[in-house]
Amino acid sequence: MTPSSSAPALAAPAPRELARSGARVLVLEQGSAAPLAGTIKQMATMALPGRGAWLHRDASLLVSGTTLGGSSALNFATAAAPPAAMFAAHGIDLAPSLAALRAELPLAPLPDSLVGPMAARIMDAAQAAGIGWRKLDKMIRPQACRSGCWRCVYGCPFGAKWSARDFVDEACFHGAVLRDRSRVQRVLMEDGRAAGVAFTRDGTLHTARAPLVVLAGGGIGSPRLLHASGLGPRLASFFSDPVVAVMGSVDDVDGGAEVPMAAGASFLKEGIALADLTLPGPMYAAFALQAGRVDRLKAHRRTLSIMVKIRDDIGGAVGPRWVDKRLTPGDRARLDKGIGMARSILQQAGAHHVFATHHFAAHPGGSVRIGQGVDGELRAAPGLYVCDASVIPQPWGLPPTLTLLCLGKRLGLMLSSGVVSR
Ligand SMILES: Cc1cc2nc3c(=O)[nH]c(=O)nc-3n(C[C@H](O)[C@H](O)[C@H](O)COP(=O)(O)OP(=O)(O)OC[C@H]3O[C@@H](n4cnc5c(N)ncnc54)[C@H](O)[C@@H]3O)c2cc1C
Repeated sequence: MTPSSSAPALAAPAPRELARSGARVLVLEQGSAAPLAGTIKQMATMALPGRGAWLHRDASLLVSGTTLGGSSALNFATAAAPPAAMFAAHGIDLAPSLAALRAELPLAPLPDSLVGPMAARIMDAAQAAGIGWRKLDKMIRPQACRSGCWRCVYGCPFGAKWSARDFVDEACFHGAVLRDRSRVQRVLMEDGRAAGVAFTRDGTLHTARAPLVVLAGGGIGSPRLLHASGLGPRLASFFSDPVVAVMGSVDDVDGGAEVPMAAGASFLKEGIALADLTLPGPMYAAFALQAGRVDRLKAHRRTLSIMVKIRDDIGGAVGPRWVDKRLTPGDRARLDKGIGMARSILQQAGAHHVFATHHFAAHPGGSVRIGQGVDGELRAAPGLYVCDASVIPQPWGLPPTLTLLCLGKRLGLMLSSGVVSR
């Protein structure tokens, strides 16, 4: 058997389980597998518009990573348990996968020594304001992490932050073959079932034949691939969990170099989540400029930043060559409420010159929803599975990584044990 997996970012447990079971596995990723350097130069090759990010018509940015490991290579490593009821409604029990992953992943709040001064200051202010602000679970190995460092935001070069690359390495150890810079063009279908994929590498079109194909191109890539294969609509609506950063300066902190999202608070019913969001200097400067706050450009090391993230309505469209989504009135109201909460926390922290950025987003998903684009086994057609944020069945608003890993683990075990038909 030769299963083929396109871009197994957070579906990476699936090729790993298949390779472990002795299957021949080919992993295709359009981005580079070059080691993470933790530099803005390398990050720009993975996540600028044209390289993984998309600009919507309202000038908001949708960011994702085009590299081996996808966005997990540059995400903030915050973990949240899967919403069990959402998946149980589709007959999916993620509890066994979650238990197995908890036993092997680094998954705990950061020790106090790795919580930066800005995150600590925001946490103190939020708690003083009566908000249930607490340290968040991080997928970080504390023994390899360092304080006063920001490089995880560009892709941790120290092996401290877990990324899907770790599981791809394991899959390769068990015999899987990785081809980076290989862009899947479409799934080959024969007699109504998947028979492999066509992909381009170095400007040449190749085919890889396989009785089993797992698409893992993410919330943007997978609906496009299904459409290109004649298996999905031209336009796919989606969610993206829009974010605004609310920033304000204090006079007695000298920071700006720490792990973002060390602590925060979630308001599930309202669809709002808040967390500290200290970013490296160049990213801070881009946000200040984007908000028209040239006067704050030099205040990076004194500026506290709070992330306001919302659960947005599913809408907009992923098209074959573009992506566009605008805030609905409900989204705007949720963002405004969260911004108000962040402003109160910053006020409690003694911040001045408070401002909010334009919104951006980094969680595209829900574009091939379970129950619509795939069934409860994540099957889109005989022999063809989709396993990434696109299959999330409802509006979201949570850090998706751990949920996607659970889906990948469950799928990998089902496929390698033959529980589901191929
Ligand atoms: C800056 C940032 C911070 C974040 N912080 C967090 C966080 O703290 N916690 C959390 O849980 N989540 C976070 N996220 C979100 C999380 O990382 C993503 O939701 C998650 O990685 C999505 O996984 P995925 O497998 O759906 O897709 P992706 O990670 O986008 O992976 C898809 C992969 O498919 C590849 N691909 C697409 N099309 C093709 C094709 N045709 N051929 C070959 N390859 C293709 C892409 O290059 C990519 O590598 C963050 C994201 C960003 C950008």
